[in-house]
Amino acid sequence: MSGRTVTALRRLPITLTPVTRETIRSFLRRLATVNHLDEEDLADTVAVERWTSVAVAKRRFDVGNLAAVAGHSIETLTRALPELAEPQKKFSEHRVIQACPRCGRRHRGGTVLIHPVPHQHVCVRHSIWLGTLGPDSSSWIQHPGPIDVSPLPEIRAAQRRHHRLVRRHGAAAAKSAVSTAADTWERSNNSDGLGLTQWERIRVLRPGTTSISQHDPLAFAVCYPEIIMMAGVLASPYWQAVAAEPFADRAAFTEINRRLREGGERFGNVWPTKRHPLTYWAEGLRLDRQRRDYAQNPPSWPRASAARTGSAVAL
Ligand SMILES: [Zn+2]
Repeated sequence: MSGRTVTALRRLPITLTPVTRETIRSFLRRLATVNHLDEEDLADTVAVERWTSVAVAKRRFDVGNLAAVAGHSIETLTRALPELAEPQKKFSEHRVIQACPRCGRRHRGGTVLIHPVPHQHVCVRHSIWLGTLGPDSSSWIQHPGPIDVSPLPEIRAAQRRHHRLVRRHGAAAAKSAVSTAADTWERSNNSDGLGLTQWERIRVLRPGTTSISQHDPLAFAVCYPEIIMMAGVLASPYWQAVAAEPFADRAAFTEINRRLREGGERFGNVWPTKRHPLTYWAEGLRLDRQRRDYAQNPPSWPRASAARTGSAVAL
């Protein structure tokens, strides 16, 4: 529905608080809605550049213009809206998801859309899967939207564990471990990547389901506990040290299988073959270790060579 138009850069009568990681378009749409304005016109007023790509209007926004109409400081907006904080970064439209609807209830103006951080999949306060396609996926999202996962507390627990991984080991190390775990998981199951436990979870959350698309967020939500469990081993300095020892990597794989069975997984063993994500993981660790050893104890030949050169000069 289109409302009144706005042409001047002035503070709007009704202001809204931007939600953390909200998209600029979502914030502008909510602002336009509560002020009974036309959304496109408000966006054009704030934009400094407008062009069309594949029949879709694109805009580049100016933070000063946005601050003027929103009634917030530039600092407040930059803290909340990632597109302003990282203007050089290209934010993908199809990675945008809806914020937790229960958290968003207190925000006026309609649905809040966000750019999630890579390890943000579940609202732990409300046990809502936010509709992402799981760790490290860049596929198009089919059926976007939140899923209530409160009947399966292990999914919420996995998100808490995932946050801990990031806190303990840093975002890059956690991302690498989760990515390897997700690849390993994909190799461990049928072509749909789902085992018996995952199908049981699907039937709890969506009764009567007999098939599921790989682009459905539910397909990722039900694998999340096992992926994060594996990532816990892969990110652990203890298990990394074990796997870096020649011929000792099997102990780390045995530990992953033990934890999978302890968690009730029944699909079989995760046992790496030659070209397998876990094999590459262990090889990478051994290589890192060799490089470290080399840097700490470099070979003595340069000194011997210098001594020979010295002798030659003396003669
Ligand atoms: Zn929530």
